[in-house]
Amino acid sequence: MLTGFDWLRRSQSGAELLATLRCLEDDSGLLLTDETQLGAPHSALGGTCRRCWIYPRRPPPAEDDLFYCRFCTLIRAGAARLGPLSRKSIVIWGFVNQLPRQLQRGTGFQDSRILGSFAPDDNRFLLMMHRLQLKPWLRELVIYHGPDLKGLIQIFPTTGSGGETGMGDVLCRAISHEAGFAMDRLRVRFYSDPYQIMRMRSRDLEGILNFDAPEFLNLLEMAAVFRNILRQEEQEMLYELLAVQDVGEEQFYWGRFLGYLNQEAKDMLNAWRIRQWPKEQVKLLYELRDHVVFSESD
Ligand SMILES: [Zn+2]
Repeated sequence: MLTGFDWLRRSQSGAELLATLRCLEDDSGLLLTDETQLGAPHSALGGTCRRCWIYPRRPPPAEDDLFYCRFCTLIRAGAARLGPLSRKSIVIWGFVNQLPRQLQRGTGFQDSRILGSFAPDDNRFLLMMHRLQLKPWLRELVIYHGPDLKGLIQIFPTTGSGGETGMGDVLCRAISHEAGFAMDRLRVRFYSDPYQIMRMRSRDLEGILNFDAPEFLNLLEMAAVFRNILRQEEQEMLYELLAVQDVGEEQFYWGRFLGYLNQEAKDMLNAWRIRQWPKEQVKLLYELRDHVVFSESD
């Protein structure tokens, strides 16, 4: 029969993954032991659940759920409510030498910032959280465990439903990459798009895939400063300006752009020497900007 981990890997979307995590946390007994009979062979009138293709379809009267087993019905109902939350969330897959403290106790993260968590064994964990919680969560993890926590934490967004590659496929691909490094320190791998996992080499070549955890935290801190010091329209103007290829043109517009900024913003951009940044580094800054809070006080 399917384990909790099997169910998670069958998720078609981020909303299904989150719904499954919550079902597992609420009542894994129902999930893992209640459905003991396999579904009947497929026929026009009955048979196996159309989602998991293993368990029998749930009997009427639940008219909407005629094609699904009891657990898939629960997941589908949960996912229907969780779409908006899932779209703002990230998925974290950790392969580490020891589970983070909260998961070691087997209680999951007793933390309202964590939307759902699962640890299939003593070295792996899956989390979902609102993307704006990434920085405070990671900072606390690094501060609490220090150099004792080693391994790889992969961070990626959720997928919607209906794509060719489902959330479970993305998760499985992340798992297949988990042991790519020696377990000598804590590293972070960051994807801004779930499908980058399928073609991670190009992101790796751009130098914006793998980081030591403290380095990645520093980048998140920079993104937070950037987001708080530059107004939204200034951020967008800067992005366009940094993409200008012609040196003379860039110099002309840079001078005009500085005229818009307050002194603090000018000092920041000058101190960072952002005009000399490779375009990949600029791209990463803007990706991380969307993962930090405006005017945060965390
Ligand atoms: Zn099913």
